[in-house]
Amino acid sequence: MFRDTHNVSNSNLYPSMDMKKEEINRKDFFKKASLFGIAALGGSALLKACGNGDDAPQADQTTADDPCSDLSGLSQDEIQGRESLNYVAETPNPSERCDNCALWVEPEAGSPCGGCTIMAGPIHPGGWCTAWVAG
Ligand code: SF4
Repeated sequence: MFRDTHNVSNSNLYPSMDMKKEEINRKDFFKKASLFGIAALGGSALLKACGNGDDAPQADQTTADDPCSDLSGLSQDEIQGRESLNYVAETPNPSERCDNCALWVEPEAGSPCGGCTIMAGPIHPGGWCTAWVAG
């Protein structure tokens, strides 16, 4: 008969109204979440493009695995020269190593790193590049 609507919420009277609000809130959340994700990816790409340090030569790149990785004394051209010959500190072919290459320069006393007549910077004896020549 008489219905008291004072203690009845709108959701009881109009359940579909609350469902629509919830759906809109969910859509809004996903829209914002995806925009945040895109912004984060864009920021990351921008930092990388600006040379945030990941690809740039570090002051001291020497690692336990490669004691000949400090390129801090080299110019950008010299670093690119190493890269253009695909120098790696660990040869992919054990029979072709820097220390059996004709272009190898023996290390100075006490140094684990040698040199190369066509490449600037420290060279790992077990390294390799595409210019390897039988010594
Ligand atoms: S030419 Fe290449 S393989 Fe030969 S010593 Fe130099 S860096 Fe090593």
